[in-house]
Amino acid sequence: MSVARILASKGKAVHTIALHRTLLEAARSLGEKRIGALVVTGADGEVLGILSERDIVRALVAGIGALDDAVSKHMTADVVMCRPQTSLHELMEQMTIGRFRHVPVLEGEHLAGLVSIGDAVKLRLAEMEAESQAMRDYIATA
Ligand code: AMP
Repeated sequence: MSVARILASKGKAVHTIALHRTLLEAARSLGEKRIGALVVTGADGEVLGILSERDIVRALVAGIGALDDAVSKHMTADVVMCRPQTSLHELMEQMTIGRFRHVPVLEGEHLAGLVSIGDAVKLRLAEMEAESQAMRDYIATA
């Protein structure tokens, strides 16, 4: 199973935000869309960073005034990305090692989706269920 399978069921839409937007605007966007991270993109749609709810919480420790800061000040610029061909195993490994829950997907040079740890767990559970059903069928017909 690969990332392409996740995108086939959830779609390729990615919620993005520009560098100069404020943390307050980012927080509103996360709340309205009920998501945990925004990909920060440039004028040509290129990936410049990622801002998650954790970055906003961390910024707020310095004071509520941080909500007026630009997204660029608190995002992670060194974004780990994957490809549609990336295996589910590799994706989960990236998330575990990097300690993050969101991975943008690149197709060629273009942003082609975003997978969350919830998407990965959902697919893994379906995979495990299919494996155990195949095992039960095999035992029943042996
Ligand atoms: P998350 O677990 O996704 O809420 O993110 C936790 C921290 O990791 C935050 O500081 C994010 O900016 C950062 N982060 C999230 N996703 C990625 C990613 N794909 N690559 C690098 N850093 C990330």
